[in-house]
Amino acid sequence: MTNSAVMVKNEYLQEVINKVKEKCGFEPEFIQAMEEVLTTLEPVVQKHEKEYKDIALLERLTEPERIISFRVPWLDDNGKVQVNRGYRVQFNGAIGPYKGGLRFHPSVNQSILKFLGFEQIFKNALTGLPIGGGKGGSDFDPKGKSDNEIMRFCQSFMTELQKYIGQDVDVPAGDIGVGAREIGYLFGQFRKIRNSYEAGVLTGKGLEYGGSLVRTQATGYGLLYFMREMLKANGQNLNGKTVIISGSGNVAIYAAEKAYEFGAKVLGMSDSNGCIYDENGVNLDIIKEIKEVKRGRIKEYLNYVPNAIYSENSGSVPAVYKIKAEIILPCATQNDINLETAKILVANGAIAVGEGANMPTTPDAVEYFIQNKVLFAPGKAANAGGVATSALEMAQNSMRYSWNYDEVDQKLDGIMTNIFKNCEKAAKEYGYEGNYVVGANIAAFRKIAKAMRAQGVI
Ligand code: NDP
Repeated sequence: MTNSAVMVKNEYLQEVINKVKEKCGFEPEFIQAMEEVLTTLEPVVQKHEKEYKDIALLERLTEPERIISFRVPWLDDNGKVQVNRGYRVQFNGAIGPYKGGLRFHPSVNQSILKFLGFEQIFKNALTGLPIGGGKGGSDFDPKGKSDNEIMRFCQSFMTELQKYIGQDVDVPAGDIGVGAREIGYLFGQFRKIRNSYEAGVLTGKGLEYGGSLVRTQATGYGLLYFMREMLKANGQNLNGKTVIISGSGNVAIYAAEKAYEFGAKVLGMSDSNGCIYDENGVNLDIIKEIKEVKRGRIKEYLNYVPNAIYSENSGSVPAVYKIKAEIILPCATQNDINLETAKILVANGAIAVGEGANMPTTPDAVEYFIQNKVLFAPGKAANAGGVATSALEMAQNSMRYSWNYDEVDQKLDGIMTNIFKNCEKAAKEYGYEGNYVVGANIAAFRKIAKAMRAQGVI
């Protein structure tokens, strides 16, 4: 049911999938995400086929409302002009202003941003908050750039992007390569050009200028709140469990922090070069120092803990997934866990996987986990805590007021618990008890479909 290779029986659904594949053949990541979602919606589509077909609901759902692509010229420290490409995919605004992060990474292209924007529609619907789906970014590589270069790039990027966003239109946030520093530069340029203090136009802002407490921690913490609920519903808990986490960025660090709070032990973390294994539990203060302060490589962990082991990535299985653990938290990038990796993880005794990243697991690997009774928390539900807290940041900006740490954290916990319960309920209602992939897609889709239908053919 989760495998994109599976043919669906419903003719309308299959026709839409075929058409999108034909039209977007050059966008593999988008096709993967679209197929994963659409195939799981078959029971709902079957029930409402005529209604959806008459208003081309699925055709509209899979076509972004708008894609903006633009030139981003900037001066490097040698006075040389560099040129990158910027994008914003405004995928679906039926539920609220487009909302989704900006990714700065050399791999960024239209396919990746369409996959992320498509996923975001569903994720945002699951939060229960009024936000539509969008995503953006650039093929700019922040690695090795000076602070001034980052600032000049962000200013040039925003000079163009500001034409298309606004607190009631489209509200970007961070993603890979875009953290508090970049959001600060982007916000400054927006404010200068518009001569208007629209705090709600970007989220992930610093606390001094409209940011929300807990936003930095939200995606990682939210992932663990979801994991706690999923384990609880299956008679388990995190206390004493061993954990491995791919990545060592924003999501990974705060996932690890909450995992420790829940009594688990993080044995390994990684970056795109390789992973560290620390049998005593990875020391998060050191990881924060390396990644948040020095912006260095995870290998430097050995300078602090000589007894830890560093393994460089090679082959198709990232080194971190060779560490034996019960809870697996992919928090780096898409398609990080393939079938080969999934087999190793299952053989090593994994009991649960929680996707902190977007689409880190390939469809055949998801299928393998589910078949082998490994609890599986899909990203669009499990990592929704970041965007949910972004929406809470927007709410605070609108009220010109801020909630304290515990208030935001409790709201985040409540939202994640609710998302889990909705996924669980939708899965059960359609005969897929315990399959939270199907549950998440159906729960989100029903809401989006109703909003789109109510607003007519637009
Ligand atoms: P960061 O830029 O803070 O960290 C990304 C981490 O992933 C780094 O450790 C990075 O290593 C690693 N990584 C990135 N690309 C690759 C790659 N191609 N192969 C292996 N490792 C890689 O990003 P975030 O933590 O914000 O985002 C991580 C994931 O979580 C992404 O999938 C993002 O879409 C998703 N997400 C983020 C949210 C947020 O609030 N930030 C919300 C919901 C989802 P290196 O430094 O070597 O590049």
